[in-house]
Amino acid sequence: MAITLDTDLARVLGAKTAKAMAESLDLRTVRDLLRHYPRRYARRGEMTRLDDLQVGDRVTVLAQVRRVSTRRMRNRPGSLTEVTVGDGAGEMQLVFFNRRHGGLTEGAWGLFAGTVGEYRRTKQFAHPDFHLITGDDDEDWARALIPIYPASKDVSSWVIQKSVRLLLDASGGFGFVEDPLPEDLRARHGLLSLAAALLDVHRPTSAEDVERAEDRLKWDEALILQLVLAARRRAAALEPGTARPRRSGGLLDAVDAALPFALTEGQQAVGEELAAELSRDQPMHRLLQGEVGSGKTVVALRAMAQVVDAGGQAALLAPTEVLAAQHARSISGMLGPLARAGELDGDPSGTRVVLLTGSLKAAARREARAAVADGSAGIVVGTHALLQQGVDFADLGLVVVDEQHRFGVEQRDALRAKGNRPPHVLVMTATPIPRTVAMTVYGDLETSVLRQLPGGRGGVGSSVVPVSDKPGWLDRAWERLREEVAAGRQAYVVCPRIGEDETGSDDTDAPDDADGAPPEEDEGKGGDRRPPLAVLDVARALDEGPLAGLRLAVLHGRMTPEAKEATMRAFAAREVDVLVATTVVEVGVDVPNATVMVVMDADRFGVSQLHQLRGRVARGEHRGLCLLVTEVRETTATGQRLAAVAATSDGFELARVDLETRREGDVLGAAQSGKRSNVRLLSLLEDEELIAAARVEATALLSTERGLADHPGLAAEVAALATDERAGYLEKA
Ligand code: ADP
Ligand code: MG
Repeated sequence: MAITLDTDLARVLGAKTAKAMAESLDLRTVRDLLRHYPRRYARRGEMTRLDDLQVGDRVTVLAQVRRVSTRRMRNRPGSLTEVTVGDGAGEMQLVFFNRRHGGLTEGAWGLFAGTVGEYRRTKQFAHPDFHLITGDDDEDWARALIPIYPASKDVSSWVIQKSVRLLLDASGGFGFVEDPLPEDLRARHGLLSLAAALLDVHRPTSAEDVERAEDRLKWDEALILQLVLAARRRAAALEPGTARPRRSGGLLDAVDAALPFALTEGQQAVGEELAAELSRDQPMHRLLQGEVGSGKTVVALRAMAQVVDAGGQAALLAPTEVLAAQHARSISGMLGPLARAGELDGDPSGTRVVLLTGSLKAAARREARAAVADGSAGIVVGTHALLQQGVDFADLGLVVVDEQHRFGVEQRDALRAKGNRPPHVLVMTATPIPRTVAMTVYGDLETSVLRQLPGGRGGVGSSVVPVSDKPGWLDRAWERLREEVAAGRQAYVVCPRIGEDETGSDDTDAPDDADGAPPEEDEGKGGDRRPPLAVLDVARALDEGPLAGLRLAVLHGRMTPEAKEATMRAFAAREVDVLVATTVVEVGVDVPNATVMVVMDADRFGVSQLHQLRGRVARGEHRGLCLLVTEVRETTATGQRLAAVAATSDGFELARVDLETRREGDVLGAAQSGKRSNVRLLSLLEDEELIAAARVEATALLSTERGLADHPGLAAEVAALATDERAGYLEKA
């Protein structure tokens, strides 16, 4: 039987094992199995310490049986066997109820797999699966490093190990594995062949073997990802766009004249970059990264004005209705009569600014759509409603996506498709992005950075208020808030939940973002935590207690758009002292007089979310204050994470902290299509150089006349990754 990477596992392993693998681990072909790498390697003398494990973890450990004792159970019939296994200094209890535990005799070695449980405050393994390593067992078990695979209840690590072994024997050493990487590339970077790397990763004899193998296998992942992205960039560069050159005496000049401040150097520099790119007939694809409060909006507005001056339309896509409304309001405000062309008091040389959101009444929506379709609306601000069918632009020249982390590539593409020719695209992110993420998740975009904050900002001081460790601090926090209000300032109090009988968190009109929630709790007591604090409850308690007498208002996603809008206006007009809200205030809300941000249950928010929230009180000349209230102890990982947020306001540093606390796959998943991620080993934290090198190689490979034509193996892998609508880009390349 000739084995290839595409051979069905059933033909190699038999129907039963193959079925279990397919069902529980989604492994179907030889390729799937070979790409299912060990999670780690066990060695004798290095047993995983039970102390390091969490209740609920599924683990496999290598250990020796030390003691076995069986007794009748006191309260129910049957017997209970306790087996103590250990290795070196570590010991662990295994418990079996009425079960055969044949062969578990003192001195036996084995792999034990199960879920970590707890009984009377002691961690234990309740009736784990085990595989004993007997004297006449094959040489697999004599190896120095025993691979521990991601496994399931039905397919244990040792079954996977045996299956790989079977494949190896049947194929005579993975000789059938063809290497997709070009020979010269491998030589340049000193990489093993794929067959050798697979052999070493599954059956290493030393830690060095593993390292070299992983190095090579990471290259596969990085290169293929970069090829997909490079193909996208290339296809985009070949698309014919429309040049929107700068024209004087138009909207842009009017905007510049109306600005109440001088642009920062960064804003000017990025402005020039954008102006030049918009003047070309190749569509711009640019990512603008800027600290919270660095003034991205005005940069975008100036680009939009240039496009309108050149006869096109510009669309600004915002993640929430609150934010869309605020943008529309501030742009209209800045343009004055120039935003009301066609109206009685309007300036006929101007344009119209139109707001298009899902909650518009039918008549208003019809009117807005008509203005978009006949081109009288030069600037269109909206939410996802802009993406809908029936929204047709007369001549869409520029798409600006604000706070990108809430939008996927597909949505960007949907809006791009609304132009007669591909429009220019500017994506803005408020959260700084580590270089590796910029090269992967946003790898199809060029990047600009606004590092500088406009001068005259007071900055923000942040502190954690650990109510478990220091109960008195909360009272002090409310006192500080009252002092600020007494001095004429305003405050936000943010809670994770709305309250009353709602279940989920906030139902804003934005989809769930990738970055939101912190990782699962590290204290391992998930179940008995109290529910998160809710806006409605907290507002009531504050009103009757520590903030009595102040003017409080609530803001959350379940309010009608009109009510939200009215509340934001009242807050902006200083008719409200304290806004108790969900994260609807997270992105972009701009009230410079607000100086205090109290985040309740701060541990329930992600790092970048907290950084965003804090940005809300760094907007004016007064120094802002951000208090992160939590019941989590300072010494826990979550406590440390909060401390890190309080300690630095450097967004790039926090982006790193954020990345460390998130699962890589979640971040990289956003860059990929297809059901399964091709990224298993590659780490955004550790492999910066490798990713950069792969990017260079990918660009070089695609820049030749023949592209991937001489590398069918690579082409196939790339095609497999880009199976959905994004394949279109590759075909064009
Ligand atoms: P972000 O980059 O977070 O979106 P914004 O665009 O909302 O920031 O700008 C934050 C605030 O800074 C706004 O009130 C804006 O008017 C103001 N601003 C922008 N540029 C400057 C500048 N050059 N000088 C002073 N204030 C500025
Ligand atoms: Mg903004």
